[in-house]
Amino acid sequence: MTPPLNAVITGSTSGIGLGIAEAFAKAGLNIMINGFGDATEIEANRKRLEADYKVKVLYHGADMTKPDEIRDLISNAENAFGQIDVLVNNAGIQFVGPIEEFPEGKWDAIMAINLSSSFHTSKAVFAGMKKRGFGRIINIASAHGLVASPYKSAYVAAKHGMVGLTKTLALEGAEFGVTVNAICPGYVKTPLVEKQIPDTAKARGITEEEVVQNVLLAAQPTKKFVELEEVGALALFLSSKEASSITGTAMQIDGGWVAH
Ligand code: NAD
Repeated sequence: MTPPLNAVITGSTSGIGLGIAEAFAKAGLNIMINGFGDATEIEANRKRLEADYKVKVLYHGADMTKPDEIRDLISNAENAFGQIDVLVNNAGIQFVGPIEEFPEGKWDAIMAINLSSSFHTSKAVFAGMKKRGFGRIINIASAHGLVASPYKSAYVAAKHGMVGLTKTLALEGAEFGVTVNAICPGYVKTPLVEKQIPDTAKARGITEEEVVQNVLLAAQPTKKFVELEEVGALALFLSSKEASSITGTAMQIDGGWVAH
């Protein structure tokens, strides 16, 4: 497998994004990480990835609700690396609640972070990728980009939107060596999932243990969480030259969830 050179991964200070950063650095890609969190911890992760894998790892703290900051992140990565070969749109948040009580602010934030940020990042990298005849955009959507669950109106709408954006950009990039795919994970045990367990328990009137067994893992026929390394390996393959005919897909990595 032939990996490309430089990647930007949004929301990569934690969870799936950090897992993808690890997989990419291990494969020899320079990466720009992004996201919120404790500055000391972020810097420690950045340094560790550089030292472990002998690649360049940069950090940019752009807030994915802010188009100006997103453009600044992309131009910083282009200046530092010369070019961006792979863009992973991964930043995302969740909020669980019935529509009657769903806060407008949460709807707006989820739309901005989980959907619109991918428009802004993709717009900023697309011309360069087309010009060079190579580019990979990987959108971390969700099984919720393909099917719904109650109480996740904003998240499900944003992730379905992300799948639509994926297909459209795949068509626009197809003749220029630019592929665009969505990865649709089932449940991966990250802070995003851990945080929603008590909220789901409250919304459904059940215990937290019942949420894990009867709501989360009930959706996945394998009865196992998807592992971070599995998502990292899939993203790495989609980034490779050998994946050049794979475009416009919404690829499930969900333990069989969407199959039933
Ligand atoms: P996480 O909470 O561990 O990580 C989210 C990342 O996004 C963090 O780095 C965080 O700092 C960053 N982020 C949040 N708001 C941001 C903002 N405004 N600007 C910049 N960065 C911001 O969550 P995760 O589970 O790793 O989720 C990553 C992606 O995977 C999300 O898009 C999520 O919807 C998707 N996903 C997760 C699961 C799962 O089960 N964990 C399943 C399917 C899809």
